[in-house]
Amino acid sequence: MQMPLRLSSQAPEVPSTSDKAFLSMHVLIVEDDSPLAASIATAMRARGWRADVSERGEPVPASLLRDDYDVLVLDIGLPGIDGLETLRRVREQGSLLPVLMLTARDTIGDRVSGLECGADDYLVKPFALDELLARLRALVRRQDLRRGETLIVSSLRFDAAARRAHIDDQPIHLSARECIVLQYLMLKTSRIVARDQLAALVPGWGAGTSDNALELLISRLRAKIEPGGVRLRTVRGLGYLLEPAVPG
Ligand code: CA
Repeated sequence: MQMPLRLSSQAPEVPSTSDKAFLSMHVLIVEDDSPLAASIATAMRARGWRADVSERGEPVPASLLRDDYDVLVLDIGLPGIDGLETLRRVREQGSLLPVLMLTARDTIGDRVSGLECGADDYLVKPFALDELLARLRALVRRQDLRRGETLIVSSLRFDAAARRAHIDDQPIHLSARECIVLQYLMLKTSRIVARDQLAALVPGWGAGTSDNALELLISRLRAKIEPGGVRLRTVRGLGYLLEPAVPG
């Protein structure tokens, strides 16, 4: 009997129940097998996670830009565009969202294709729900560790540990609030970050913060970072998006 291949080198971690980061996990499940999708979502919700289900891959890239998911569970065999094409489109948009792919036992070649398209991990059906949840926790934890690293978009570099930004080798002077907002926007490069989400990150700010205060901060930040070959876009009615500037 063939054993399911594990593409990630790390064994699934067993999180402690006090791991608060996972209480708010937001997962998108793209799976056309309704009973399977429902049982995955139910298991997640029982643990306090938020789970959305889509039975098609087609609207996924758009919804990933709008919503702030932590991880994507993606079936390969889907009606319309399949999971591999969905993943390709997600990565094309610059999304670094961790993706775990689900595949049938008889589609071994899909594993290689999925890895080439940028999947982070794999699970072969049938699988134990606990195994899936453990793998997802491991993926999100790995992603969180990257928050301590240096973030780079075009010539703009943000050193998270030192809380310093540079364009090439020139330091940019940022306020504490600008640092927080920039780090988050860079972590979510090419994804829309909602205004409320940004305001909630800034100490002393929250739901009551006026749109003007945030817009002012964004426009100051924009002037400082856009010489680094990035664009900081205001997406009307939705929020903000940082992306590499298109040359020319
Ligand atoms: Ca399927």
